[in-house]
This record gives sequence, structure tokens and C-alpha cells, in this order.
Amino acid sequence: MKIVFATNNPNKIAEIKDLIPCEIQILSLKEINCNDELPETQNTLEGNAVQKAEFVFTNYSYNCFADDTGLEIEVLNNEPGVYSARYAGDDCNPEYNMQKVLQKLEGKNNRKAKFRTVIALIIDGKKSLFEGECKGEITNEKIGEKGFGYDPIFRPSGFDQTFAQMSKSEKGVISHRGIATRKLVEFLQES
Ligand code: IMP
Repeated sequence: MKIVFATNNPNKIAEIKDLIPCEIQILSLKEINCNDELPETQNTLEGNAVQKAEFVFTNYSYNCFADDTGLEIEVLNNEPGVYSARYAGDDCNPEYNMQKVLQKLEGKNNRKAKFRTVIALIIDGKKSLFEGECKGEITNEKIGEKGFGYDPIFRPSGFDQTFAQMSKSEKGVISHRGIATRKLVEFLQES
């Protein structure tokens, strides 16, 4: 089975490829000659995931899936949430995004947060959604060099390392994206 992963984020492709069995062949946007910026203008993770997958299905006629992920911080009323990519402004810089989170949490005892991923799958025009979440806390400073995005400031519950200190496979066992991807794989194998 061939299926497109509708993302321009190479880190997401690397994480997902590690979690998907080889009988499901993942194609990147480049491999289908799609060089477009994917639209992401909805105000929910579900809406954005569906919007990205529908764009590829409609314009390129490939079965595909897309994910949208948000970091939800309890004491900030679940900010940055669906706006995680552009939290510190339109230039989408992870450094500035993390700085903004750390500044907003300065002096706060409640540092509970969670990552939530929604995957939207479209097969022959039929849509399905899969969700995964990972609870944890925001650290006081950046720790670790691996991963991407907010990984250096997120420590999953029950662990003493941040996502950025974990290998891809360690992160994949417990992460929001790992959980949602395993649900996706189970669905694809059953259909
Ligand atoms: P999107 O799903 O590509 O819209 O991602 C939203 C924001 O969350 C971006 O700033 C990403 O860098 C960040 N993000 C997405 N997934 C992860 C993750 O697994 N770890 C850390 N940050 C992430």
C-alpha cells in the first residue's frame, strides 16, 4: 500500500517512518511533486489535519494522511494549542516559541502540559481521524539537543528526560504522534 504523508516537516516524516511497517509505503510530498505550502487556516487541530489531507487528496489524487499537533499548557488556558507553530510570531522559529513559553511560565508552580496530535486519513475520499496525547510538564530551561519544536522544554510524565534527550524510538513509544500513528497503522492493517 502506498500512502502520502502530507507534511513539509522532515522530522515528522522521520518519526513516522520508524513507526510504520514496511508493507505500508510512505511517500513524501516531494515524491509526488507537490511543492506547495499546505493550507492550515482552521482553529482546531482536527480542522487543520483534515484541511491538509484534503488539499493533497483533491489536488494530487493520492490517498494520504496529515497530522496537526499542539502543545497545551494548563495554566495558560491550553495555549499555545493550535497556534503552537506561530506562538511567538509569523517567522515560526522554535527558539522564540520556547522562549515565549518559558517567559510566560516564569514563577508559576503549575507547569503541567500535554502534546496532542490529530491525524486525518483520507482513503478513496473517506475520512478517518486518530488522536494521541502525551502528558508531562514544561521544564525551567531547555534541556537536550535531539527532536524538534518544543522537545527541549517538554518532560513526559514518569520520565526524568525531556523529549530532546530521548532517541526517536524512545520518544515514539510514549509520544502523542507515536500513539496516534499506532492507531492509524492498526486501522490500515484492518481495512
Ligand atoms: P504542526 O503540527 O506542524 O502545526 O506543529 C505545530 C507546532 O508544534 C510546531 O511549532 C512544531 O514544531 C511543534 N511540534 C509538533 N510536533 C512536535 C513534537 O513532537 N515535539 C515538539 N514540538 C512539536
